Amino acid sequence: MIQIPDVVIVGGGIFGAALAYEFGKRTIRTVLLEGTALGSGATGTSFGWINALSKGDDSDYFALNLAGMSTYEKLSSEYGEDALGLSNGGSLTVSPSNEANSALNRLQTLQDLHYPVVALSPGEAASLEPGLTFEENSVSLYCPSERILDPVKFTRFLGNEAAKMRVAVKEYEPVRELSMSSVSGTYTVRTETNSYSTRVLILASGTSTRALFGQIDPQAAQRFVKLKRSPGLLVTLSGENLSNVVRRVVYPGGGLHLRPSPSGLLLASDIADAELDRNPTADLATLTSQIIETVLARFPDSATSLREAKREVMLGQRVLPVDEHPIVGAVPGFPGLFLALTHSGITLAPYLAHLLATEILSGQPTLLPAYRPERFGV
Ligand SMILES: Cc1cc2nc3c(=O)[nH]c(=O)nc-3n(C[C@H](O)[C@H](O)[C@H](O)COP(=O)(O)OP(=O)(O)OC[C@H]3O[C@@H](n4cnc5c(N)ncnc54)[C@H](O)[C@@H]3O)c2cc1C
Repeated sequence: MIQIPDVVIVGGGIFGAALAYEFGKRTIRTVLLEGTALGSGATGTSFGWINALSKGDDSDYFALNLAGMSTYEKLSSEYGEDALGLSNGGSLTVSPSNEANSALNRLQTLQDLHYPVVALSPGEAASLEPGLTFEENSVSLYCPSERILDPVKFTRFLGNEAAKMRVAVKEYEPVRELSMSSVSGTYTVRTETNSYSTRVLILASGTSTRALFGQIDPQAAQRFVKLKRSPGLLVTLSGENLSNVVRRVVYPGGGLHLRPSPSGLLLASDIADAELDRNPTADLATLTSQIIETVLARFPDSATSLREAKREVMLGQRVLPVDEHPIVGAVPGFPGLFLALTHSGITLAPYLAHLLATEILSGQPTLLPAYRPERFGV
């Protein structure tokens, strides 16, 4: 039997789950369809850093990220940090002496935007992160309001809240077929077990979105779903004495990122990601060993724990638009069809979901043209 909800969302990553939550709050009959488990796409392989530090060069995009951060503060005051999987501590980004000037320029830009950030001397930074060695004359930028999110826990939280508000949250129900009837103005969404007919279809299906949309119109899918490939490697270390190696998100230099994780320590590396971008078949074990060697050089006191730690490696793909800005909103020429794609989705998805749900239900634009599908042509 065909079901007729008001809204169908395809994809249960952080973005789809945040949309389900938003429509649930407004008591709209909504179905969320996730092909596997909630949070198993890019969301499940994310570093989970809620931030605006690296976004100061573009004031509109910076403001969007700031609004993304504020959305977490609102959710946190309503539900509490633990329920969301949020933790505090800020972030610390270290620049060696030869990059100190550019760090200070960045500081100025962010302070001009009234962002809470301060520059710390090596001694001050060492009091925040005693396990790290700081080069003399290095500059560290400390952003106290940035946070860490457990992205899968948060996505499940959103899914559970949406379900309480009578959204049908369907896991392990992959969409197999999409079609549009321009006569009735409806979309038909087929899974193995069900068929849904809706006037509002939102594709929040990450890197699968072009293929799904392509079932409706392959040319339009090419035009509007403009994503580039961007692999990301994450290494989780678990074992003894790892929980205090770092106390917050730390960029110690050399492209390395670290943060505490529930099992110990989470590592990522811009250098490893660039190598995977160049060579998709690069050996993950070799890259992982290289990352760990870089960590050992910067955290000598934790060498034994780092060497003995159990390693778990995850390879993800970012949902990265070609211009690195979100692709969110109505698709020109396809009434009722919406895209919900973004990088920095941990920071941005809850706020973008709020904007998109408001726009769909009010008919009033809430998003800047620079973030809409129509920027790729109409
Ligand atoms: C390595 C890495 C590190 C990152 N670090 C950060 C960070 O520190 N801070 C930050 O803000 N952002 C970060 N990001 C980006 C962020 O994780 C993503 O922008 C965000 O998770 C995207 O969420 P999404 O819901 O749009 O996509 P996804 O999480 O990919 O969700 C899409 C979902 O659609 C489902 N799906 C696909 N096809 C179908 C189908 N046919 N039927 C049903 N379901 C389907 C998939 O199973 C998937 O669950 C990082 C990303 C990566 C990869």
